[in-house]
Amino acid sequence: VTRCDVAVVGGGIVGLAAAREILRRHPGRRLILLEKEERVGLHQTGRNSGVIHSGVYYAPGSLKARLCVAGSRALTAYCDRRGIPYEVCGKVIVATHPEEIPRLEELLRRGRENGVPDLEMIGPERLREIEPHARGLRAIHSPRTGIVDYGRVALAYAEDVRAAGGEILTGREVRWLQRRRGEVVLGTPAGEVRAGFAVTCAGLHSDRLAEMDGAPPDLRIVPFRGDYYVLRPEREGLVRGLIYPVPDPSLPFLGVHLTRRMGGGVWAGPNAVLAFAREGYRTADVNPRDLAATLSFPGFWALGRRCWRVGATEMARDLFRAAFARAVRRYVPEIRPRDLVRGPAGVRAQALDVRGRLVDDFVVHVAERAVHVRNAPSPAATSSLAIAALIADRVDAAWPA
Ligand SMILES: Cc1cc2nc3c(=O)[nH]c(=O)nc-3n(C[C@H](O)[C@H](O)[C@H](O)COP(=O)(O)OP(=O)(O)OC[C@H]3O[C@@H](n4cnc5c(N)ncnc54)[C@H](O)[C@@H]3O)c2cc1C
Repeated sequence: VTRCDVAVVGGGIVGLAAAREILRRHPGRRLILLEKEERVGLHQTGRNSGVIHSGVYYAPGSLKARLCVAGSRALTAYCDRRGIPYEVCGKVIVATHPEEIPRLEELLRRGRENGVPDLEMIGPERLREIEPHARGLRAIHSPRTGIVDYGRVALAYAEDVRAAGGEILTGREVRWLQRRRGEVVLGTPAGEVRAGFAVTCAGLHSDRLAEMDGAPPDLRIVPFRGDYYVLRPEREGLVRGLIYPVPDPSLPFLGVHLTRRMGGGVWAGPNAVLAFAREGYRTADVNPRDLAATLSFPGFWALGRRCWRVGATEMARDLFRAAFARAVRRYVPEIRPRDLVRGPAGVRAQALDVRGRLVDDFVVHVAERAVHVRNAPSPAATSSLAIAALIADRVDAAWPA
C-alpha cells in the first residue's frame, strides 16, 4: 500500500499539467501520478495535429473559448522559459463555396468576441500572398496560431512534477476506485494507492474512471479515429503554415486540414471515423469491450440516425486516398492523390450524451474528494496549463487542506 495526499490518474498532457499546478500551489503535498502505459504522453498527447489553437471556433463564454485563449498564451510563455521550440506560423480558414461565407463570418465574430488577437477577413489576393497555392473565395487569417510538439511539452511538465517532489509511476493501470474511511483508494495491479484526494484525467477512458467513482453514466466516450496522410517531401512547398477548411457545423471536429509540423513535413488530416477500439490506431483494430460500450449507449444510435451520411463520407476518406485528396484539393487544388503517403493516426476521446449530442465543451466533474475530467478533446493540449489551473481551483475549493 502506498499513501499520498493527491493521486492523479493519467499521464497525458492534462494529468501532467494538473499534477504540476497542484504541486506549484502546494509544494509540500505528496503527489503520485499513475499512468497505465510504460511512458507518459503515448495516446492523444502524442498523436495529434500539434497546433497551438488561437481560440477562433469556440462558443463565446464556453470553457473552450476561455481556456484556449488563456492557455495558448501561457503555453508559448512556458515554451519560451523552458526552451521548447514552437513556431507561430499562422493559419488560414478558407471558404471555397459561397454558402460557407456566412459561417466564416460567424467564426470571425466568435473569434473576436473570444479575444483572439489580430484576426482578419481576407480576400483571394491576400490569401495568395500568405499561402501561394491555396484558393478560396474568402478566408480568415489568424497570424498568431502556431505549432509545437505536445509530446515534448508533456515531457517538460513531467520533469517539473518530479522536480517538485511528485512521483510518476508508469505501468500502473487504475482498475478500480473506492472510498474507505475518508480516503480514496485506487487499485492497480501493483497494489493499492490511498490518497486524500484523486484527480482523474484518463483521456479515452475518462468515462470509466468517473463511473468507477459513482458518476452517472450519462456521458460515454466515443472514440473517433483520425488518420493523417503525409505530403511527399518534394511537394511540401505547397503549404507554408496551416490551411483549414470551414468546419461542418454539425460536428465538433475542425475538418481535414494541412498542417506544417515542428521538425519538418506537412500532414493532411485528420478525418473522423468511428473507431472500434479506444486505442485502435488502425482500421482493423477491434476491442469487443470498447465496441460494446459504444453500441450499448443509447446516445450512439441517436447520433447514428442523425449523422450517418457524414459518417459514410468520413469512412470513404478512410478507405480511399483519392477521397482524402479531394478534401484538401478544394482549397489547395495542386495536391494530387499520389502526393499523399499514409501517415500516423490518433484517436479522439469525444464525449457523447444520452441524447446523441457530441458534447462540445470541456467537462470537469467535482465529486467528494475527487475531480474527474470527463471531456477534454481539442483544444485541450493548447489549453493544458489553463485547464490545470481550473482543476487546481476545483481541488482547492473541494479540499482546502
Ligand atoms: C487526431 C487528433 C488531433 C488533435 N489535434 C490537436 C491540436 O492540434 N491541438 C490541440 O490543442 N489539441 C489537439 N487534439 C486534442 C489533444 O490531443 C487532447 O485534447 C489532449 O491530448 C488530451 O490530453 P489528455 O491528457 O486528456 O489525454 P491523453 O493524452 O489521451 O492521456 C490520457 C492518459 O491516461 C492514461 N490512462 C487511461 N486510463 C488509465 C487508467 N485506468 N489508469 C492509468 N492511466 C490511464 C492513458 O494511458 C493516457 O496516457 C487532437 C487530438 C487528436 C486525437
